[in-house]
Amino acid sequence: MDHLWAPWRMEYIQREKDDSQGCVFCIKAEDIENDRNNLVLYRDDDIYVVMNLYPYTNGHLLICSNQHTDTMNDFTQTTLTKVMELAKQIMGILDNTMSPDGFNFGANLGKAAGAGIAEHIHFHVVPRWKGDTNFMPVIGQSKVIMDGLFETYDNLKPQFDNIK
Ligand SMILES: [Zn+2]
Repeated sequence: MDHLWAPWRMEYIQREKDDSQGCVFCIKAEDIENDRNNLVLYRDDDIYVVMNLYPYTNGHLLICSNQHTDTMNDFTQTTLTKVMELAKQIMGILDNTMSPDGFNFGANLGKAAGAGIAEHIHFHVVPRWKGDTNFMPVIGQSKVIMDGLFETYDNLKPQFDNIK
């Protein structure tokens, strides 16, 4: 099958690097002074949007709860609503800036479902283009990848500043 949806492979790499410091999503939730370094595009009291450090495609974003939980049963109604509202806003912004042909949107809940960081729920929004299946970050060229991520961050950030 050509069109493989496998962002968890990237998450696994991220997890291996950050494991010693605790939950990477909690760190980003609490570190409110370093949004650019952390690639956080948007945040409020319940939720934040961050770029995936090892994107499946350029523009691969994550919607994370500030709350450390592995189950949506812990989400408040407000958080549930914000996830969907932010997903809509993100797709609008990516449409405007990158003109993708489609999106993957969803979550891998639990190890069995392929979650790389199962203990802290997060939702993927991945812009897709026809023929993008050959895109893969090259391990060992992290400097190049980070430069590309900051470039994308700086392009997207002004639009996220306009949310709400
Ligand atoms: Zn966490």
